[in-house]
Amino acid sequence: MLDVKVIRQNFPIYEHNKDLVYLDTGASSLKPKAVIDQVDHYYSNLGVNVHRGVYGLSYEATDLYEEARTTVAKFINANFDEVVFTRGTTASLNMVAQSYLSVLKEGDEIITSELEHHSSMLPWLNVSKKTNAKLNYVKLNDEGRITVEAFKDVLTTNTKVVALTYVSNVMGYITPIEEIIKLAHEVGAVVIVDAAQAAPHMPINVKSLDCDYLAFSGHKILGPTGIGVLYGKKHLLDQMEPSEYGGDMVDFVVKDNAKWKDTPYKFEAGTPIISGAIGLSSAIKYLMSIGFEAIEAHTKELHRYTLEKLKDIKGIEVYNSKSDTGIITFNIIGVHPHDAASIFDKNKVCIRAGHHCAQLITKWLGQIATLRATLYIYNNYEDCDRFIDSVKETIDFFN
Ligand code: PLP
Repeated sequence: MLDVKVIRQNFPIYEHNKDLVYLDTGASSLKPKAVIDQVDHYYSNLGVNVHRGVYGLSYEATDLYEEARTTVAKFINANFDEVVFTRGTTASLNMVAQSYLSVLKEGDEIITSELEHHSSMLPWLNVSKKTNAKLNYVKLNDEGRITVEAFKDVLTTNTKVVALTYVSNVMGYITPIEEIIKLAHEVGAVVIVDAAQAAPHMPINVKSLDCDYLAFSGHKILGPTGIGVLYGKKHLLDQMEPSEYGGDMVDFVVKDNAKWKDTPYKFEAGTPIISGAIGLSSAIKYLMSIGFEAIEAHTKELHRYTLEKLKDIKGIEVYNSKSDTGIITFNIIGVHPHDAASIFDKNKVCIRAGHHCAQLITKWLGQIATLRATLYIYNNYEDCDRFIDSVKETIDFFN
């Protein structure tokens, strides 16, 4: 187990919120001091634009911004010029989907699943409506997982795009994405991986996955909000048209033409998210100093501990007891999740209630909303106990 007492010393939020039980990392992680300090360093000591200033402060800010790209590239085993900074997973996935509006046509097929966060499937629903390409959904198995077998059932020679989540934000399941990518490539389809929930929990290696595009957000891996990453294979990014035009993304402009910069810069129009990228770099370094093996062991043990206690409680339904990443999605029978969450809130236990921006899987579960608790590096057994106490209190209160 991780030494949570030491870890919490790195997270100022615990100093300012003494009784906090934070179980909503699935929505957004807490931020360590190293990240806050680095963002503060940029604003306090530099605070200037990148790429354009011909003076020392701007060179320094540019170095930090571009070093952040190197850090991200190492984190996912990508090349430097395959890393595009964006606002987040949603922006990254939309950017890719938009670029296929002019590529797909009637007769083409797109594969997605009911397990997706809206950010992973809605952009393709839009593309499907506008291009008449058919949108196919992988049938989930009885547990609600995407399986290779079910993927094969919807894969055809007309499949051009596969957009799937690496880890579900509702069920915490890991998709067998590597095998799926191999199969998709056999029919010449590109695969877009939503790694928003994978990035906090497991090493990502875009080269060994051989994915074509992959997206994740800084704020879910201890980084700042407003920064995210789009990875794309170089030749695909080279072919992809920018979706935004403006400063910094162009080499030269004449009245009736312009030449874009090379990737990744042609996708970063305007002043980029400098503090976000720099903060993300610190977040990745912090995360790596802990290591994914330790993160997995820690969250798995807390997950086991909590499920064991939940087992003895009557009146609840857990939908994903075999979650791979320490997410517990459940309901208290007969109690609306928002009513339940207000009791948790009174006890300073932060959990998520609702459809988690994934209405299809919530409906698949036969629910209109659920409660979700996520376990991460700063949680301990006491958090789990206080979570369990709130579950019991909610049951007592509404019965
Ligand atoms: N995909 C998954 C699986 C998510 O969990 C989330 C956020 O909850 C997103 C995409 C969207 O991320 P963001 O809101 O940071 O763009």
